[in-house]
Amino acid sequence: MQENIIIAGSETQSHRDSLAVSTWQQQLSHAIRDPQALCQRLGLSREWLPGAKLGHELFEVCVPEAYLSRIAYADINDPLLRQVIPLGEEALTPAGYVVDPLEEAQHRPAKGLIHKYAGRVLLIASPNCAINCRYCFRRHFPYSDNSPSRAQWQEALDYLRNDTTIHEAILSGGDPLAANDRQLAWLVEQLESIPHLKRLRIHTRLPVVIPDRIDDALIHWLSTTRLQKVVVLHINHANEIDQTVVEACARLTQAGATLLNQSVLLRRVNDSVSALAALSERLFEAGILPYYLHVLDPVQGAAHFDVPDSEARELVTQLRDHLPGFLMPRLVREIPGKGSKTPL
Ligand code: SF4
Repeated sequence: MQENIIIAGSETQSHRDSLAVSTWQQQLSHAIRDPQALCQRLGLSREWLPGAKLGHELFEVCVPEAYLSRIAYADINDPLLRQVIPLGEEALTPAGYVVDPLEEAQHRPAKGLIHKYAGRVLLIASPNCAINCRYCFRRHFPYSDNSPSRAQWQEALDYLRNDTTIHEAILSGGDPLAANDRQLAWLVEQLESIPHLKRLRIHTRLPVVIPDRIDDALIHWLSTTRLQKVVVLHINHANEIDQTVVEACARLTQAGATLLNQSVLLRRVNDSVSALAALSERLFEAGILPYYLHVLDPVQGAAHFDVPDSEARELVTQLRDHLPGFLMPRLVREIPGKGSKTPL
């Protein structure tokens, strides 16, 4: 078995040491973006390389060291690894799996803006992510068509100003926190000036992927805005939450943000009662409330993550026997055209 390993040694300690002196931008720029480097770094058997290369051609691999350091060495079944390693299955095209499963293209009244639900709009604040999750429903999203310049943001901001029924702006992406703090502070300042806006919601995976992203500059604009703040994290497994993530979450809470989590139910990642219970417990220890457990959006390239509805319902029924009600996420599906998430 050992001779199948691409590189037996790991540089984990030196990678961890380098994290101690790197800014989040440096950590992001050093993220692994090559399937062979990923297999080498994690000591994976050569048999995974062809599939990893094929999947990478369809959706680039991207994993920063801070996240890699929580993945077990030479274990293809690690639940964090399953979320980030490209596989040959991504080239399959089963019926029903499409490039835009939520039909977002029909809800873009301005560049960078998606308006699907009453009372809230979604702003594509950054086309970039700090990690490329293989199950992402936006893995085919045309970010190049939806990355406004400051001048182009005015159209989206005017749309918000002219619709007094909108009370909440949701920063999304990509990952909105992949944008720099100067841009984000400017955008939040623009949003603050719209009187009927009450809340700023930020959907992000960056506090989990690179916890150092929650730095002083971010905390400054977040803590000084008049808008109520909700940060919705995206965490799928308890192992994603180490002490650095706990500390990043504590800073967000101290800045006045309410922390919620949404997960996706993923085959071979969190499709067991024990994994889901451990996730809820660990979230609460980190000051985060479980919010949604989504079934997979049928995006092309991700069918191998699917858990059928009947199994999802049974898992959640059993989960109730293990958790208090306030730690139970709501099992939902997003159906294009519906005015809200649909409970299963
Ligand atoms: S948008 Fe979120 S789920 Fe999709 S790749 Fe980026 S971080 Fe992952």
